[in-house]
Formats: sequence, structure tokens, C-alpha cells
Amino acid sequence: MNGRSQYLPGQGRVVALCGGVGGAKLAVGLQHVLGERLSVVVNVADDFEHLGLHISPDLDTVLYTLAGLSDPVRGWGRFDETWNFMEALKQIGGETWFLLGDRDMAMHIERTRRRVSGESLTIITSDFAHRLGISSAVLPVTNDRLSTIVDTTEGELEFQRYFVERRCEPLVKQIRFSGAQSARLSEEVLASLDGDDLRLIILCPSNPYLSIDPILAVPGMAEKLRAACVPVVAISPIIGGQAIKGPTRKIMDELGVEPSNAEISRHYAGLLDGLVIDTADAAGAGHLGVDVQAAPTLMTDMQSKITLAEHALAFGESLRVTPERRGRPLRREAHHDDT
Ligand code: GDP
Repeated sequence: MNGRSQYLPGQGRVVALCGGVGGAKLAVGLQHVLGERLSVVVNVADDFEHLGLHISPDLDTVLYTLAGLSDPVRGWGRFDETWNFMEALKQIGGETWFLLGDRDMAMHIERTRRRVSGESLTIITSDFAHRLGISSAVLPVTNDRLSTIVDTTEGELEFQRYFVERRCEPLVKQIRFSGAQSARLSEEVLASLDGDDLRLIILCPSNPYLSIDPILAVPGMAEKLRAACVPVVAISPIIGGQAIKGPTRKIMDELGVEPSNAEISRHYAGLLDGLVIDTADAAGAGHLGVDVQAAPTLMTDMQSKITLAEHALAFGESLRVTPERRGRPLRREAHHDDT
């Protein structure tokens, strides 16, 4: 495909840490450029049990997006969806606060069936990805239970109750990840982060608090990033002091932090070599403590996703890592040759 290998002549691999909608937009651009050289490590702390089914909202968003099946208007689920199941469920008095489309149900039912029969989430996801024609690897960060709990002014809420049922209205006091202490990175995630052919690690422009933090909360993940011999680059989810979509800005306000690139850089301190910020924010960015690349980061169509992916990859290629870099202050040189 055009553009492949343009920025990574060494045929190296790239690992991208990803939540749902915002992260998947970049992941599909990265997949276009890298194909099977991309592994997308996905948050599973939004997963929950509903109507007896194992639902993995971020994994499904990534699968549908990479397969070209996602609904661009709704932002989640499949574009070719129908809603007969929900109508019938409502008629008989079932719980309808969490919408499940007819085609989407196939994913939840089959995932649940295979989990009950003893297969891991990693194997099931990999098989679904293959069958949906996805060329990149889609890896749940862990096969173990991991659940985001949002401590709000109305008490502790399970993530989907906060996010979907309460539409993020309760004020957030704290966020914790139940199960994180005993969760283990999957073997496939560990393997993706090892090996001489690993070239770059990317933190997608996902919600840092709800999507990336739970991935980093799995023991070993933050250490892997700190110790990585390849550059680690994040793409900011904040443009002009606002989040494009979702509660990132609201949560930052409620946690008492400034919705700015400086705060994104501070949040990921010690993990990053570079931060991609929007061109609109370049002038006032100031010193962010990491190398900064300005690029158009608003992804509205396939081309803008590919262009941002190419920017992130080229930026990553321009950063050279020195072994001491993880201790702050950073000691790292940038090199900008084209070889
Ligand atoms: P969720 O789990 O479905 O909420 O999705 P993510 O956590 O992956 O993404 C949510 C974040 O994506 C929000 O903070 C948005 O600001 C960010 N986002 C969404 N679209 C874009 C975009 O086009 N560009 C950038 N830079 N960020 C985006």
C-alpha cells in the first residue's frame, strides 16, 4: 500500500497503546501505514458483565474501526446496525440503558461463549480480528479482570454506569482500577514490547485518565515504557484547551488540573520522549519537558488519520534514545537525518 515503509525503512514494529474512539482513529491511520507491523494494546478496564454477556467496549471500537465497520456518526458500534433486540428487550421490561445493536450482539455472545469455554480474551480477540480482515495485532492489555471505578460526588460508580447510564454527569473525585495489582500483562503484550525489531511506542490521543492510565496500571507496563530502548511518543487529546469528544476536559477540570498540553506532558512524565501537539497550540506551548512536534491532530477523515500517523512515526524516527533518559531531567538527543 502507498506510504508503507516510508518512515520506517528498517521494517521495525510499532506498539500503540489505545482506548476507544479517539485512540482507534489514530490506530486505523497507523494500520494503513504499518499493516502487520503494528500491535494495538487496548484498554480492557471498561469491560463489564451485562445481561450475562462479557462486553469489551474499547476492544470492540478498535476492532470495528480497524475493520472499517465503525459508525462514523454515532462514534461507536457498527455502521450497518439495526436495533430489533433492544426494542424487543424494552417490550419485556429488560435493562435498556446500555445499547446493544443486533449485529454487535454477535460479538458479545460469541466472546462470552468462548470465554466460558476457557479461551483467553487475547485468543478470542485475535481470532475475531483475523476473521474481520484486520492486518494489525489487536491485544487486550491483560486477560485478567481489570475494572475502572469512578469515585464521584454521588459515590463510587462502575465505569459504564458513570459513562453511559449517568452520562459522566457526577463530579469525579478520583479514579481507581480494581484488580490492577494482580492483573498480568498478557504474554503477547510482553512479546510486542520486546525484541530488536521494536521501533517505536505510541500513546494514542485517548483519554489519559480513563483509557491510558488503566493500561499503565497493569504491573510492568509503565516500567516497560520507562526502560524501553525505543522512543515513546504521545499524541495529545487536547486541542485549544478542549477535548474533541468525551469527558477528558470535564475530568481534568474536576481533578483540578489544567486542560493543556503541559498537563498531558506532566501526566506522562518519565514515560515520554516526545509529544505531538496540534499546530493551533504550537505558539503558546512553551517548554513541555519533552521534544514536541506540532502537527494537525484533528482526525476528521481517513486522510487526516493517515497523515497524523505519518507525522507521529516520522517524529518517533527523529528521536534517539539514550539509556539514561528515563530519569528526569531527560537526557536525550534528537537526530534528524533521513537514513
Ligand atoms: P473512548 O474510550 O471511546 O472515550 O476513547 P478514547 O479514550 O480513545 O478517546 C477519547 C479522547 O480522544 C478524548 O480525550 C478526545 O479529546 C480524543 N480525541 C478524539 N478525537 C480526536 C482527534 O481527532 N484528535 C485528537 N488529538 N484527539 C481526539
